[in-house]
Amino acid sequence: MRYLDEFRDPELAARLFADIARATTREWAIMEVCGGQTHAIIRNGIDQLLPPAIELIHGPGCPVCVTPLAVIDKALAIAGMPDVVFCSFGDMLRVPGSEHDLFQVRSHGGDVRVVYSPLDAVRIAEDNPGKQVVFFAIGFETTAPANAMAVFQARQRGLTNFSLLVSHVLVPPAMEAIMSSSNGSSNGSRTSRVDGFLAAGHVCSVMGSWQYEPLVERYGVPIVVTGFEPLDVLEGIRRVVIQLEAGTATLENAYPRVVQAAGNIPAQAMINDVFEVCDRTWRGIGEIAGSGWRLNERYRAFDAEERFDVAAIDSPESTRCRSGEVLQGLITPHECEAFGRECTPRTPLGATMVSSEGACAAYYQYRRLDATGVELRGRGG
Ligand code: SF4
Repeated sequence: MRYLDEFRDPELAARLFADIARATTREWAIMEVCGGQTHAIIRNGIDQLLPPAIELIHGPGCPVCVTPLAVIDKALAIAGMPDVVFCSFGDMLRVPGSEHDLFQVRSHGGDVRVVYSPLDAVRIAEDNPGKQVVFFAIGFETTAPANAMAVFQARQRGLTNFSLLVSHVLVPPAMEAIMSSSNGSSNGSRTSRVDGFLAAGHVCSVMGSWQYEPLVERYGVPIVVTGFEPLDVLEGIRRVVIQLEAGTATLENAYPRVVQAAGNIPAQAMINDVFEVCDRTWRGIGEIAGSGWRLNERYRAFDAEERFDVAAIDSPESTRCRSGEVLQGLITPHECEAFGRECTPRTPLGATMVSSEGACAAYYQYRRLDATGVELRGRGG
């Protein structure tokens, strides 16, 4: 498959593994921020083929996973209301709320629809003037331009039956929260045990790589903007290791075929027209200042939380699910007692088990254990 095979070439991968092994002289902990990178690593066994001194820590880069339970419960409450068409991407339908999920709302008669673009939801609103149409607008910076465009279009067309349930999150404040957290050993100006980052290439394609310069300067960590194919991930790791071994910390772009320093300026303009920065709660991590977007005053009338009066819903997170620790890289999914037992993709206790970018889902698919704790090879993926 052209354009993909060239980033999965086994010979080139072997060379990159050898380069990384040659360069590594001591232990380093590198966090891949994005769940897409986590899946590439686990699916291809990259972590198992690296020198043992290199630990890959899975970061919080799965937007479905970090959406708090309270927001899922707000979605379920709205979706169950009469004369509502609730639209979402497919990966939200199996995310468990406090009592049920969107699939169950649909099986009880709720009009829950899977769409492939928020603009599909705008079209549904145009075609159904007697219904209230809501789109579940979650995600990182990557999905924000399309969501902003949807509400911009709805306003242009004078639609009063379209709204967004917004739970957008921003990556740099989450990386800052990880770097300034007290988890791990002290290292200079920071307390996190993360020595370097693979930044999420698709987020940078929208917002630009320049956003990460302040983190590099403040915390003295190398950050390499990285893609999602196996060779992309290996090249990102190679560059981080070379910097760490040399004692340098700079921002590098290892994904230039997609990412430019300034990002996508028209997309940023669309976002800035519709959204404003707000504090946001991340599942398992808690509130991070300035880490989200909400509709700004001009578009507030399209806010589903206000239109359906669900803003007060506040649900405590499950005490059985340890996804908060998984999302911060404090444990691997295997260390959660429920993994593969009470918690499976068919009986999920947390979003990390059902999201296509969730670390628990990746481990379940590619790294299942048998009853004695030994990895089941060749069965999962
Ligand atoms: S395995 Fe299940 S219960 Fe454990 S952290 Fe993952 S999603 Fe939560």
